[in-house]
Amino acid sequence: MLQDKGSKLIELRGDITQELVALANSLSGCLGSCEIHSEKIAAPFEQEIVDQLRLAGIHVVDTWQSSMLDFSELPFTIDALPEVFTQLRVQIEKHGLKARKVQPGVTKIPALPESLKEVDGHSVNVAAAESPVNNHLYPAAVNSFPYFQEDYFGSEQAAKKHLTRYFSSSLPDTYKETRDQLSGIDYSTKFSPWLSIGSLSAATIVESLQDYEMEHGANKSTYWIWFELLWRDYFRLLHLKYGKMLYRAQGISSNLALTARPTAYPARDHESFIKWCEGSTGTPLVDAAMRELVTTGYLSNRLRQVVASYLIYDLNLDWRAGAAWFESQLVDYDVYSNQGNWLYIAGRGSDPRGGRKFNIQKQTHDHDPQGIYRTSWGAA
Ligand SMILES: Cc1cc2nc3c(=O)[nH]c(=O)nc-3n(C[C@H](O)[C@H](O)[C@H](O)COP(=O)(O)OP(=O)(O)OC[C@H]3O[C@@H](n4cnc5c(N)ncnc54)[C@H](O)[C@@H]3O)c2cc1C
Repeated sequence: MLQDKGSKLIELRGDITQELVALANSLSGCLGSCEIHSEKIAAPFEQEIVDQLRLAGIHVVDTWQSSMLDFSELPFTIDALPEVFTQLRVQIEKHGLKARKVQPGVTKIPALPESLKEVDGHSVNVAAAESPVNNHLYPAAVNSFPYFQEDYFGSEQAAKKHLTRYFSSSLPDTYKETRDQLSGIDYSTKFSPWLSIGSLSAATIVESLQDYEMEHGANKSTYWIWFELLWRDYFRLLHLKYGKMLYRAQGISSNLALTARPTAYPARDHESFIKWCEGSTGTPLVDAAMRELVTTGYLSNRLRQVVASYLIYDLNLDWRAGAAWFESQLVDYDVYSNQGNWLYIAGRGSDPRGGRKFNIQKQTHDHDPQGIYRTSWGAA
């Protein structure tokens, strides 16, 4: 908590660059002498903001911190990044690369100046910890990521409590078998919302995972938690290598000698896109999932894949529109994982199979045979 470290959170609303420049000016005209410290983000739109702030005269100190691995230890340069995930994994394992060491957090943060009362003519809103409004329409929301319960708020305290709870249970032993389920807290780790806002780091998770393995033994499932965190790093590495190219309709596919990927650009269809967003396509599994997403901001990995595939291959829409909708809704939005996964399913990334089309009937039969999930979201 910032308060425990001697500072406070200010909430500013509006254009990021303008607001931060105005804040710097309000701090007794510190523009040019004050610093903004931020995470270094290798994604084009986020980088643009940092560039604009620097142009406006603010000294931005951005530090790379979000990956599990220390990328300076990689056995290849970013230009030589293996194109396919499996090749990356093999190299990492061959070289025995370990997760970064957990760094001690800062213990003190300078207090806000007493004089700071206004930014750009608006009085400063010093944010108090707010409980999110419990406005969910479906009782099923408690079986998703229950962001409205105190244990699931976006604080480091809640993150650590959840981490301890997860690794004090035997859930890691069965992660691989359960991770494709559709509803409930315990079928997957639910670390993603805290990872995405930085109140939990991948390195911290791996430290707890290793302690768990020392005490209880390693198995396929405990390995698979690391494996999934490596996917998260892989999408970061893809961004470092390809940057803006990942945001084009064709992604990076034209760069690679891969076969069987879709070649035509999808047609735009506003009406079907809206139906997809609000969960009224008429395809029950997709509708249930989209309602869960809008209500809770969370969706299982399996259903993210299903609804993404449906948008791309059944509705024939632009995958980037789907990615943008996810960006606006996800409680665990992570620019790298979101863009990377959409690109992968669309076959515009580096998937050797050139896209992932999911058969909705089969997915429904395999993952919701009794219709329990669909019914719980009113889409039976
Ligand atoms: C279309 C699509 C969009 C996605 N968008 C996001 C996003 O914006 N933010 C996000 O964090 N994840 C995203 N994912 C990946 C994945 O669905 C979520 O990380 C996972 O469902 C989060 O729940 P969990 O923490 O319980 O995951 P677990 O299954 O418990 O996995 C543990 C951790 O591994 C990482 N991980 C797991 N699967 C993936 C994956 N496929 N790609 C990258 N990292 C992974 C996450 O950090 C996750 O917290 C997306 C997947 C798809 C198919």
